[in-house]
Amino acid sequence: MSETIFTKIIDKSIPADILFEDDDVLAFRDINPQAPLHFLVIPKKPIATINDITPDDYALVGKLSGVAAQVAAEYDVAEQGFRTVMNCNEYGGQTVYHIHLHVLAGKPLGWPPYQETLKSQ
Ligand code: AMP
Repeated sequence: MSETIFTKIIDKSIPADILFEDDDVLAFRDINPQAPLHFLVIPKKPIATINDITPDDYALVGKLSGVAAQVAAEYDVAEQGFRTVMNCNEYGGQTVYHIHLHVLAGKPLGWPPYQETLKSQ
């Protein structure tokens, strides 16, 4: 897998506002926040997209949700609620090809999360 901006955040060659770190996982604030609290939870292992997750990764990918809830609790938004999103490839809106769980919190979030009207099915 080619290096991404998130690899550079993991190896600290570029700065990020880190909210959580352990041997497997990093959480940091999104540089372009879409909610009062918007952070990303990523595995340190570079996995390009959801499509590239293998059974060996299931525990690691599950841990992303656990860390999301842990950080949300630390920032006192867990009880209000929050949204997690993982975009996949072009139609999913993925721009960085290292999987990341978006965590959006701090205001009521609309649903559905897109504007387009489905014209035909
Ligand atoms: P996605 O479009 O789902 O691939 O999301 C990529 C996210 O990474 C976007 O929300 C960007 O704002 C965020 N992002 C890109 N570069 C950085 C960076 N250097 N630090 C923090 N967040 C970033």
